[in-house]
Amino acid sequence: MRQKIRNTIIIISLLLFPITLNFFSPYVSIDGAMNGIISGSLLIFIFMFVTAIFFGRAWCAWICPMAGLSEICLNVNDKNVNVVKLRIIRYSIFFIWAAVLITMFIIAGGIKGVDFLHLTENGISVDSPIKYIIYYLVLALFFIVTILVGKRGACHSFCWMSPFLVGGHALGKLLKIPQLRVKSDSSKCVECGICNKNCPMSINVNLCAKDGYIKTSDCILCGKCIDNCKKKVLRYGIK
Ligand code: SF4
Ligand code: SF4
Ligand code: SF4
Repeated sequence: MRQKIRNTIIIISLLLFPITLNFFSPYVSIDGAMNGIISGSLLIFIFMFVTAIFFGRAWCAWICPMAGLSEICLNVNDKNVNVVKLRIIRYSIFFIWAAVLITMFIIAGGIKGVDFLHLTENGISVDSPIKYIIYYLVLALFFIVTILVGKRGACHSFCWMSPFLVGGHALGKLLKIPQLRVKSDSSKCVECGICNKNCPMSINVNLCAKDGYIKTSDCILCGKCIDNCKKKVLRYGIK
């Protein structure tokens, strides 16, 4: 039931992507910065950072439009990926983007204002033929990379948003703020490996579960491991 609810939410989010695209756009943030404006997408990234302090990367499993696309891709390629290698690419992209963003704010003379609807004046992102091209290019890029690389391949390799979530999660940990986690009672585990097979983030769940909870910030709190473990080793909890 829980997975049905989650899948419904992320498919709706994917269907709404033509409306919301700009609010996840790295380009809109840069364009805003060139004018000294904090745009809607930058505000959303900041919001993601703040929510991650308490809820880790739950955004990636429960809200993100690309989560819906990733779940669809699992039907074609559900191979685990080399998370560490892909992380290097992802952070390289993120740091270049962040450097450009900061440089643009400096060139513009600092922050002059906030405009949530910057470049989305009528509230809908895909409102012209050129935007349709961008929209389909983003979907195609995400789809092709995920199909070729494996489970959540695009998320692991080039998502510019996930460092905000990882950063928020790390800050919450550092400040010892209670966070939503997957907790475990490994004494009940029979090492069947079903959790590993079901994890969309290629986490070795039953190994991580030996620590009493899933520590890694790669966990997106989707709950698939919880819902598929017949021995009820795993559960949501506050850590
Ligand atoms: S990693 Fe990025 S694209 Fe993937 S679900 Fe999370 S926020 Fe969305
Ligand atoms: S599915 Fe449950 S019992 Fe099986 S390996 Fe994972 S935690 Fe252990
Ligand atoms: S460890 Fe469990 S909750 Fe975390 S991403 Fe994997 S399946 Fe989802």
